[in-house]
Amino acid sequence: MEKKQIFCGICSSACPMDVYVEEGKVVSVEGHAEHGKSRGLCAKGAASKQYLYNKERILYPMKRIGEKGSGKFERISWDEAYDLMAENLNRVKEVYGAKSVVFYAGYPKWYRPALLRLANAFGSPNFCTESSTCFQASALAWRSLYGNGICFPDLAHTKTLLIWTSNLFHSNTPMGKMFRSLKERGVRIIVVDPRSTVTVKEADLHLQLTPGTDGALALAMAHVIIEEDLYDKEFVEKYVSGFEEYKNYVRTFTPEKAQEITGVDADLIRQAARMYGGSKPSSIQFSVSTIVHHVNGFQNYRAVFSLIALTGNYDIEGGNRSMPGPVSPCNEFGKVLRYDKEEAIGEKDFPVWFDLPCQEAQCTRLADYILEEEPYPLKAVFAMGLNHRMWPQPEVMQKALGTLDFYVNMELFWSDSSRMADLVLPACTTFEREEVKTLRGGRFALNQRAVEPLGEAKNDIEVIIELARRMGLEDEVLTSGYESYMNYILEPSGLTLEDLRRNPEGVKGKVVFGPKVKTYEEEPFHTPSGKIEFWSQVLEKYRDSRGYEPLPVYRDFREQTQVDTKAYPLILNTGARKPQFFHARLYRLPWLSSLEVNPMVEIHPDDGAKYGVLEGDQVRVTSPAGEMEGTAVYSRNGRPGVVYLYHGNKKGEANNLIDRNYLDPYTGFPGYKSYFCKIEKAGEVAEHGISTEI
Ligand code: SF4
Repeated sequence: MEKKQIFCGICSSACPMDVYVEEGKVVSVEGHAEHGKSRGLCAKGAASKQYLYNKERILYPMKRIGEKGSGKFERISWDEAYDLMAENLNRVKEVYGAKSVVFYAGYPKWYRPALLRLANAFGSPNFCTESSTCFQASALAWRSLYGNGICFPDLAHTKTLLIWTSNLFHSNTPMGKMFRSLKERGVRIIVVDPRSTVTVKEADLHLQLTPGTDGALALAMAHVIIEEDLYDKEFVEKYVSGFEEYKNYVRTFTPEKAQEITGVDADLIRQAARMYGGSKPSSIQFSVSTIVHHVNGFQNYRAVFSLIALTGNYDIEGGNRSMPGPVSPCNEFGKVLRYDKEEAIGEKDFPVWFDLPCQEAQCTRLADYILEEEPYPLKAVFAMGLNHRMWPQPEVMQKALGTLDFYVNMELFWSDSSRMADLVLPACTTFEREEVKTLRGGRFALNQRAVEPLGEAKNDIEVIIELARRMGLEDEVLTSGYESYMNYILEPSGLTLEDLRRNPEGVKGKVVFGPKVKTYEEEPFHTPSGKIEFWSQVLEKYRDSRGYEPLPVYRDFREQTQVDTKAYPLILNTGARKPQFFHARLYRLPWLSSLEVNPMVEIHPDDGAKYGVLEGDQVRVTSPAGEMEGTAVYSRNGRPGVVYLYHGNKKGEANNLIDRNYLDPYTGFPGYKSYFCKIEKAGEVAEHGISTEI
């Protein structure tokens, strides 16, 4: 039996994995053993053999032969597929212009820089990704303040860790071990989370807020920190712009006022503020998207991020640091700029997305842009991993895809989104391809090909490269081939692909920059003022035209809504992580889907009693946008008045319930985690009751 080393490709944690192969087939997988000790895999990674050998894998290029959506396809060769794509994309370009073709990247993310290159070479400003609803809004909120990429917590040196709405054990599994080691080191832990999670159980303080009220809580903490003179005057004076305006604003956010808004006890807010502000170095552990999945999410996150500068915990040892460890440069994410000579989709609706800037177009409203031909006709979509279920009211996206002149989707599995396509291409998994991986500490490794691709599945970047060649596009990096592309990624590090092949455990770059602190002493912040902007000049530009607030102003989502909250009295929160799911694809894995046969509708027992729904009942959840059914599960992990659903389940899709116009006006992110709903019993006790505690 042969052992190959790969990196799990199911989520972005990229855990190293040992794969045991016999006669060209994967027999088993386990966490990569270092010094004889396995680092382990989560449930999803452990089930990944079912990902590779899934009966729903797409194995050959398939061309539509029936009506759109009919599911009738015939197998064609790759040669025919490339010709079909080149012919149709060039035809659409000739008739409507290059911008009428959208290049879309779903999940995973690894091929994004190559796809952006393809869009640029084609001449379309419309490169967009699933980050239109994931992470980018968090990155924008950070950039509006600090002008650089998010600074992560220096966990090795921190004394106090404020975990803001992240259940590490379920959403970032490898961090679970790190979390335990912090506890052993005596680090004080504060967790802000609407629910009592496994992470919360080990915290010193738990601030259990109502979903979507993060901004009010952060402002009240700032109020205490300023009132009690716990802020870093010297740092603020020298490096912060707009502090006086901010101070005047937070003065109104007393802990008592925040208690009314957030439901968190005022004394607990004071304790948390003193703990975070009074025991330097402190750091904040963020979540990727939780805070920005609210219609007030961008400003809420600005309020949270401001605490770092206020307390002088920016870019110091043990605080939130721009370079906490050694790094080696490479040509990968963030190195390719989007073609921006023409207006991109989303530019009129969400201008700060482009001003701050972000190297992709905003596509939350893609369905409407296609259907309404706004801001101009969009006639073709070249997609990799497009899943219409990502969008709120996904059926509208499905309808829009059905109207396109040409739509191609490269995917692992047969999905409803692919059924609307004119051409479906078979993608290979991380087991079936070589890939350069950038690791922590300035190291690089090669994801080995454990087995030959199933059927005629291909590596996404190789397809991008060949398509660029067939369309006669000019991009030296792409057209020189995949080997050369991988070497290009490594070039600035001083390494070559051969170095990686010779060192399967990974190798440190020959060019390495050591950890740094206080980088701001050498170069100004990349904001218009050159300082950290509590008062954002980019937002100020749109004050009159769009009502954007330059300060991290709190607007309560319950007051902004048009929804009749008497008819829909409960808050609907969707997508809080579960250990066995990550995205819709994982419902195809029997080991994982068997853990939740019917969609779970998590409600507080008080709400169950109030609305006549018993634990295990079939329950209907209705919002102004749609409805779904599932099994009622009683849980005291959340507060009364909030219903928790998970997304991506075909048997009951939570995103059907979110209105596609319920968006954060700054970023276009949907309010997945604070919409409105009602519940009612839809049937007697369901067959599959499910346990409640997490
Ligand atoms: S956390 Fe789990 S799913 Fe994510 S990369 Fe690691 S093993 Fe894979």
